[in-house]
Amino acid sequence: MPQEQSFAQRLIAWQRSAGRHDLPWQGTRDPYRVWLSEIMLQQTQVATVLPYYARFLASFPDVGALAAAPIEQVIEHWAGLGYYARARNLHRCAQRIVAECGGRFPENAAALAELPGIGRSTAAAIAAFCFGERAAILDGNVKRVLCRVFGIAGFPGATAVERRLWTLAESLLPDATEIGAYTQGLMDLGATLCTRGLPNCPACPFAENCVARRENRQRSLPEAKPRPPLPEREAVFVLLLAGDRLLLERRPPHGLWGGLLVPPQGDPATILAARGLIASEQRELPPLKHVFTHFRLTLKPLLCRVAPPLSAGEPGDAWLPLAEAAAAGVPTPIRKLIRQVASAED
Ligand code: SF4
Repeated sequence: MPQEQSFAQRLIAWQRSAGRHDLPWQGTRDPYRVWLSEIMLQQTQVATVLPYYARFLASFPDVGALAAAPIEQVIEHWAGLGYYARARNLHRCAQRIVAECGGRFPENAAALAELPGIGRSTAAAIAAFCFGERAAILDGNVKRVLCRVFGIAGFPGATAVERRLWTLAESLLPDATEIGAYTQGLMDLGATLCTRGLPNCPACPFAENCVARRENRQRSLPEAKPRPPLPEREAVFVLLLAGDRLLLERRPPHGLWGGLLVPPQGDPATILAARGLIASEQRELPPLKHVFTHFRLTLKPLLCRVAPPLSAGEPGDAWLPLAEAAAAGVPTPIRKLIRQVASAED
């Protein structure tokens, strides 16, 4: 774990020497321009945003111009950037600032966060860049950096993990005089070095003490969203054995195991009655679990010994020698079931 005090200093030094300095929304303290860039950059890469930002500013040079424009014109300027709720919120926010704040942006993060479309992290970025407020940002990129540097386990979207990350982000802040370079450094590091795919650790200011790097866990931090458990299902498969022959039936072409051979599935009495068979012995075999993409199946095999059938049975029925059945066109878990029966018969 790096010293908390040195985190900010390292990041600021790196930002000054290797960070980004020529983006069109840098070098200004105009909250309108910073706000616009922050909203456009949500879920969108810098290279995509650049032409949109220039066109937007040319048509709507200040918050008053944006508030006065018809929403259709605003959406037109947004077309292609995606996540159109951002454009609608941008317009609503501009109108609120004009109507309620005399056209001036509130000058602190808490008040900014009350406006439409401005979350806690975006409000902090505007307040840090424009008003020098010691406010912490915590967007997806920053969460990734913090989870990796400090080895924070758990899905960052989970409430408890997110709360911990906010506390950590606030504890790392430098003095107000350096908050701009620090905030920009966090953004630059997440966008250029500590990227989602393969981070460029050798060039990173935290290379020596980053937990993810030290433990080679860059791919597993931050942790992915936990998947809900798969639904459980179970099915009885009736293994009808006449001498050394096992009954398999061909499944209909569609659905689970479509077109493959499987033992009859369902109520044993119904299956026997449909074929005019009487079981001389019935025995449960150990169940077998199989995981499908959308559910887990417990296969419950029931071995039934019967006298050799007098008729061909149901359409699609095939009495195969037990020794050959596993090699017929059967699904994997059924092959395991058949092998289980075969070895019990040896
Ligand atoms: S050392 Fe690698 S994983 Fe750690 S913060 Fe830097 S770029 Fe990210």
